[in-house]
Amino acid sequence: MTTPAPKLRFATVWLAGCSGCHMSFLDLDEWLFELATHVDVVFSPVASDAKTYPDDVDVCLVEGAVANADNRELALQLRQRTRLVVSFGDCAVTGNVPALRNLWSDVDGGSRQSVLDRGYLELADTGAQHPHAPGIVPELLERVLPLHEVIPVDLYLPGCPPSAQRIRAAIEPLLRGEMPPMQGKAMLQFG
Ligand code: SF4
Repeated sequence: MTTPAPKLRFATVWLAGCSGCHMSFLDLDEWLFELATHVDVVFSPVASDAKTYPDDVDVCLVEGAVANADNRELALQLRQRTRLVVSFGDCAVTGNVPALRNLWSDVDGGSRQSVLDRGYLELADTGAQHPHAPGIVPELLERVLPLHEVIPVDLYLPGCPPSAQRIRAAIEPLLRGEMPPMQGKAMLQFG
């Protein structure tokens, strides 16, 4: 009788993104049951509200760009504790939608204060004010960055969001200890 292969320790992380990439992951539907026979989900916003990223993670899908101090801290931490980091979706790969705020700060001299003024004061219909609870709102970075500008990334999985088929095609080889062939429109198209 053969001993089953040990399960991979699998994580997903949500930085500055809309959660659409995670919704697409959930679109894997019944294949999630198959995935569960190969992995233990040790950290994920769709599995628990755990706040501490664990040690010894094998694979982590990272959705979203790096937009604030909390995003950056988590990105650095997960890189230290993860064998294979996947830049998951266009926001992680290029900055995409969250990085649109860079256009505003570029015009106005690159100030994150100008971004906050624009968002919370100038565009407010009522009750214009900055968020004011110390320690509650993470500090914005001067610019929104794609993940690979903050930490080394092992695999890029583009798409806004990547389709469930593309996510599965990327994950299945990883379960066998192989890198997926990221080639062609089916695997690499943005948007
Ligand atoms: Fe949302 Fe698209 Fe960004 Fe994914 S890549 S977090 S779907 S905006």
